[in-house]
Amino acid sequence: MFRTMIFVIFAAALLACSNVKKTKPKERVKINTSKLQQTLYYGGDIITMEGNEPTYAEAVIERDGKIIYVGKKSSAVNNFAGKTIEVDLQGKTMLPGFIEPHAHPVSIGGFILANDIVAPHEWRMPHQTYPGVSGKENYLKAVKDIIDSKEDRNKTVMIWGYHKAWHGDITLKDIDKVTGDIPTIIWQRSTHEVYLNSACVKKYGIQKGDLSEADNKQADWDNYHFWERAYQMMKGTKLSPFFSNQKMLKLGMERISQLMLQNGITAMTEPSFPNSTFEDEYAVLLDGTEKAKAYTIYLIAGFPEQFVKKVGNDTYADHIASLPEKYNTEYIKFLPNQYKTFGDGAIYSLALQLREPFFNCANCKSEWIIPSKQAQEIFDYWWDKNYKIHIHITGDLGLEEYLNFTEAALKRNPRKNHRTTFHHIGLFDAQQAQRMADMKIEASANPYYLWALADKYSETGLGPKRAANMVAMKELTKRNIPLSLHSDFAMAPAEPLLLAWVAANRIVASGKVMNPEQKISVYDAMKGITITAARTFEMEGEIGSIKVGKEATFTLLEQNPFKIAPEKLKDISVAGIVYKGKMKLNKGKFVGGGRDAHGCIGSAGYSWCERTGQCERPWELAEKIGFESTAEAFKQYCGNSNN
Ligand SMILES: [Zn+2]
Repeated sequence: MFRTMIFVIFAAALLACSNVKKTKPKERVKINTSKLQQTLYYGGDIITMEGNEPTYAEAVIERDGKIIYVGKKSSAVNNFAGKTIEVDLQGKTMLPGFIEPHAHPVSIGGFILANDIVAPHEWRMPHQTYPGVSGKENYLKAVKDIIDSKEDRNKTVMIWGYHKAWHGDITLKDIDKVTGDIPTIIWQRSTHEVYLNSACVKKYGIQKGDLSEADNKQADWDNYHFWERAYQMMKGTKLSPFFSNQKMLKLGMERISQLMLQNGITAMTEPSFPNSTFEDEYAVLLDGTEKAKAYTIYLIAGFPEQFVKKVGNDTYADHIASLPEKYNTEYIKFLPNQYKTFGDGAIYSLALQLREPFFNCANCKSEWIIPSKQAQEIFDYWWDKNYKIHIHITGDLGLEEYLNFTEAALKRNPRKNHRTTFHHIGLFDAQQAQRMADMKIEASANPYYLWALADKYSETGLGPKRAANMVAMKELTKRNIPLSLHSDFAMAPAEPLLLAWVAANRIVASGKVMNPEQKISVYDAMKGITITAARTFEMEGEIGSIKVGKEATFTLLEQNPFKIAPEKLKDISVAGIVYKGKMKLNKGKFVGGGRDAHGCIGSAGYSWCERTGQCERPWELAEKIGFESTAEAFKQYCGNSNN
């Protein structure tokens, strides 16, 4: 409950901040611009995430959304002119805002959140918790239950989470039997595959001629099953009316915003934006970010769009260069000079490329998302253009291929600060990690692969030895390879502390600890969701640590991750965030007694104020800062409206 987090305001005057969006005031307002205003944070463990070990600061001062002071509290206020809002953290821990360096907020996350889930493991979403489902019979029954619950027989139903290792092989006959005449898309757990029912194929007029001969190699027309490039092509063309439905996407995005606050995420990067259509996905991001005003979305363009649009490299490079000016907002930033490309197939589809054959899996089949020759041409083009290249890689052969590409490129056209980053990296060994270190290749790993897949893939797919050694992160940190952690949401829950917990403990779904030698330190794990996460997309100069000049964006925790047992990391509750100087707290459970969800008593005139994180009375604020309009005063002061 919020009363445990009562902040004390000693004095306040307000200069209209540049990041406060002004609405037209109904009355004339007086703003006292002669006074400067800043916020002082103190009274809790403030961890900067600068340096090689946890470093604490007693106080931090923010002005206009930026950090202007980090240091001792005694000398803090005297150094700055103007009035100061004091925020007593009351024992909470303040860290730089958590960062998701690889996730898919709209195209995957938003979709899943706006549709249905039947998946092997439990999903705790803001609106609902979905239990894990195993076994073919249970799977089909769960699908049938969803279908039976639908009133609109024409509306397409999408159910995400199918995985053959848990749910057995499914055929068109199986799906048609439980879905009948409702158009249904079964979205595989990896989101790199779809299975359509007959009604869906009919509704969208899908035919064999829709795919090129090459793409047809990644399609099974008998079961309307499409994977990797064939899937991407379907999604970008015939199925795009479904995949770009604005109403659905906006609902999903609203839930993404809730999810981010719930888990303390203040920045998220989507590599390979868009997943289907640019304008539709961008419109949804714009809507969601403007409503939330609580996080920044960073976007990297890349292969899927270039591929679907069939545009040449030069044209696409011009397109990338034009994006920031046309589309950047306060909350959305396109990252020019970065490109995302792809190696091997999805790990959740057991389509990764392996140096040794699959273990006990007759119908497992490795895939390349981009065939080798074309993949190297793409890599070389962006390398020579001095772009930072991000590569989706899952298996050890996929990784080997890009090690070779990088080695050849370095010989041909040496680059010092290329920071090429391998993403996901489900499987690799010490020798490969050494090659990465030698070539200054960086890493962004999905540690959740280990938690979700190691048990099952020990039996089928990888076998016990490789499964236990999945995402061997210590091989990276001990070689000082920058390592960030990502969820690739929804390839893992968008819970940075959960990712850090897996990396530091290597505990898997069954509760076993897999290859404890590969545990990384809690500090390295926390760097992976803060400063190194920012580095992954070249934003470490602006976010990721608490340092003068950086954005005043923080995550507030109930406990200090460095003062508890590593096994407890994932259980730390997120109190809220500060985004560019504005505080947003997670809703308390204390309701009733005339109180709203924040614990504010409306009948006594109190409304929830995001900036101070406490209940405030509008007229008191108006008096304090010299406004005639109480509503406008509240908005200017709190950053949210009072009704
Ligand atoms: Zn991804």
